[in-house]
Amino acid sequence: MKIKDISQTFALQERAKARIPGLSQLLSKRPDRFSYGVWPGYFSRAEGARVWDMDGNEYIDMSIGGIGATVLGYQDPDVDAAVHEAISRGVASSLNCPEEVELADLLCELHPWADMVRFGRSGGEALAIAVRIARAATGRDKVAFCGYHGWYDWYLAANLGTENALGEHLISGLDPAGVPKALAGTALPFSYNDADSLESIVNNHGHELAAVIMEPIRSSLPEAGFLNRVCELTESCGAVLIADEVSAGFRLTCGGAHMALGFEPDVAVFSKALGNGYPVSAVIGRAEVMEAAQKSFISSTNWTDRIGPVAALAMIRKFRREEAHTHLIDLGESIQKGWQQLGQRHGIGIHVGGIAPLSHFAFELPNPLEAKAYYVQLMLDQGFLASTIFYSMYAHTLANVEAYLVAADLAFSEIVRAAKAEGISERLRGEPSASGFKRLA
Ligand code: PMP
Repeated sequence: MKIKDISQTFALQERAKARIPGLSQLLSKRPDRFSYGVWPGYFSRAEGARVWDMDGNEYIDMSIGGIGATVLGYQDPDVDAAVHEAISRGVASSLNCPEEVELADLLCELHPWADMVRFGRSGGEALAIAVRIARAATGRDKVAFCGYHGWYDWYLAANLGTENALGEHLISGLDPAGVPKALAGTALPFSYNDADSLESIVNNHGHELAAVIMEPIRSSLPEAGFLNRVCELTESCGAVLIADEVSAGFRLTCGGAHMALGFEPDVAVFSKALGNGYPVSAVIGRAEVMEAAQKSFISSTNWTDRIGPVAALAMIRKFRREEAHTHLIDLGESIQKGWQQLGQRHGIGIHVGGIAPLSHFAFELPNPLEAKAYYVQLMLDQGFLASTIFYSMYAHTLANVEAYLVAADLAFSEIVRAAKAEGISERLRGEPSASGFKRLA
């Protein structure tokens, strides 16, 4: 569908810019991540894999799939029916909702090594809960980590007094402004597939380590022996091993990716896919660690609402029934193969990465962020929300993938043509894509 008019969408964006510092509550949904001035930052409606902006323009969403939250698709009929039914019975009262017990049972059934569960409502928050539990369980302060784990003080402390320790871990330039300087030296980064980097932390700080935190998998596959060595090193110093499943969970299997990889943590943390867009997160773990949640004070009113657990129960049951991960993987593999073929056909160097359901690519061109913005623009003009990331949803069809790749073919050929002729920047209606963390101008 051709975009006719997008004035209302952009008018709202200008209002937001003045009213909401940074425009969005989530960096990944800021329009400058795509192309400011072109990307339609707001939706009026979403269903399946389709999204409508504020002007009523309709798009097939082949981009970030609700940044990984809506694993089944927008307005999934089964999840939404369960939520509507819960609303009809009331979602909050002075008493607790029984569904949280049911969900705790189901999560422990899916992850037989885990005995107990605490719930939150967002990913970063659940990781903060997990870190607090690990610190309470061990009586230690320091945390070794690999990868991105949210916005909380315990994590951003890694950038205190360092040049950009977090730069290697998904988002560069995260400023620790507002994080107490006293936390400097409490969050120690190591690298994925580099057990030696963890070993040197364990050698120097092992007796002070409360936790080792990492995603079991994200951009690259674990090399042989890496995950085992992480387990051994963590055990050797008595720290708690925490698997961050916020993004990787419910993609490769029905539950944590660690299950598919034979990696057994002490604690695992879920959010995003768990509620298919409804806020819910879970910290699951071995009883001896989780009991420490009672030593500390970990408590919040909205962690008791009924919608989160109801949505999670419906999501998991559908995911399990449909074996949704096989479809997520098929879609992602087709997209990755398609990108590779387009790169070859058009003679553009591209780097493709990520596990199939969380795929991404990068243009290997002199100005990759201009090329990305032009790609976003060319795909929008053909009715697709698309960037260099594709997170698959169960609602995506193989026909969506085929149509997307036809449009991407055209976009790649136009990128090559523009790069050779007047230059890509001449063709941009918006701004080049932003990378890393920066203030919104
Ligand atoms: N951990 C990982 C691995 C993530 O990918 C994210 C979100 N991108 C988070 C933690 C933070 O979760 P949230 O945005 O829900 O706070």
